[in-house]
Amino acid sequence: MSEEHHDNNKDGQYEDICYICRRPESKAGKMIRMPNHICICQDCMQKTFDAINQNPGSYMEMLNMNPAMFNFQMNDIPDRQKVKQKPQEEKEKKKEQEEKPLTLKDIPAPHRIKAELDEFIIGQDHAKKVVSVAVYNHYKRVVEDAMDDIEIEKSNMLMIGPTGSGKTYLVRTLARLLNVPLAITDATSLTEAGYIGDDVESVLSKLLAAADNDVEKAQRGIVFIDEIDKIAKKRNTNSRDVSGESVQQGLLKLLEGSEVEVPVGATSKNAMVPMVTINTRNILFICGGAFPELENVIKARLNKKSSIGFEADLKDKYDRDSNILRQVTLDDLREFGMIPEFLGRLPVIFTLDGLTKEMLVKILKEPKNAILKQYQKLLALDGVDLVFDEDALEAIAQKALEKRTGARALRSIIEEFMLDIMYEIPRDETIGRVTITRDYIEKKGVPRIELRTGTSLRPAIPDKKE
Ligand code: ADP
Repeated sequence: MSEEHHDNNKDGQYEDICYICRRPESKAGKMIRMPNHICICQDCMQKTFDAINQNPGSYMEMLNMNPAMFNFQMNDIPDRQKVKQKPQEEKEKKKEQEEKPLTLKDIPAPHRIKAELDEFIIGQDHAKKVVSVAVYNHYKRVVEDAMDDIEIEKSNMLMIGPTGSGKTYLVRTLARLLNVPLAITDATSLTEAGYIGDDVESVLSKLLAAADNDVEKAQRGIVFIDEIDKIAKKRNTNSRDVSGESVQQGLLKLLEGSEVEVPVGATSKNAMVPMVTINTRNILFICGGAFPELENVIKARLNKKSSIGFEADLKDKYDRDSNILRQVTLDDLREFGMIPEFLGRLPVIFTLDGLTKEMLVKILKEPKNAILKQYQKLLALDGVDLVFDEDALEAIAQKALEKRTGARALRSIIEEFMLDIMYEIPRDETIGRVTITRDYIEKKGVPRIELRTGTSLRPAIPDKKE
């Protein structure tokens, strides 16, 4: 057939056709003739050389490709080449910048990590210090991966602290400043594989999604599993503990480091979803929980110790200690219901303190994105100064303290009384400054309003009692 074709060609009946782009000689220009009657146009030849120069490994692939794939029917190759190649080059450059391998220099030293955390998180000095060191060591381990046979152990963490004390916030801030993907999950939604609920592997799907489906990036990310105390071993149950101990068991292999098949773009496996393999060796797992009953376990242990012998203490000595969680030991956690294998894979254990009134006041005004600063910025856009009296802040903190949900209560309290202000102020263009007073917080009075020119006593917010 090819002989025939060649012969026919000799007669000039048919034109030669480029083996790659399928264009005839009249369109593609002069052909380069190769053995076996293969003709290739000059454009395709050039493209092939370019491809080989850029990526020699793909040459063989290219030759094996279906020629139809190159059937791009172009009339104006030079222009299209220009247009097509430019973004590609840029993309590659960007990719190089983004994905250049992590080096020791890229990882901020512990004191720098802590200094950055200080800008956002009030108090919790001990926790910030522990986290900074653990994270530094973890990423050092990632960088030095295959250096020698002394393998640095993984520094997964267990964070214990009352609700609203900043556990999630700490992890979020950390991931942002390290520029690594972060997945936050709730341990309560996890169940043993095969039962209703999410498999433990779903946490990796979330991480993959957070890393824009980039496996490499996901493998250096952070997974935060909140409410870890809710998967403590259930006591006195006869049924299978599918959401407690079994989940702890299921998490073991992830925490330690293993290759896990993960569905892309979904949290459960099924035949329709493509899968990728993620190695969890370099993923940093941080577990957090409030462990509400743990205090009693610690107290019981301490009381037992101190009620024997000459050094016997008063029985209620520890009842007044608000930071008793700091004295937690592995035994206490085991007593609480965490299995030893699980605890063994979380070598860094630390606690966060319950927030005091002073800390709450600071949280209101000091962090880089403090709630007050946010409201001040909002009103500044209307050209209005927002000022808070110091004792008004204390009143807010006191209210928050009573709600017992840590700093989380602050926002809801502020939102409640800022509603009227945010509603009324933009109405009156003459207002230049609003001062929030203690009386306003305690619903005994109204905020102080100053007009742009001079001061006025006229209340802008109608007093609700009137
Ligand atoms: P939890 O410990 O229950 O995970 P979060 O981290 O979700 O608490 O805290 C809720 C909110 O309270 C955070 O978004 C943050 O704005 C604020 N917050 C809590 N603790 C602190 C803190 N120590 N410093 C600054 N803000 C805090």
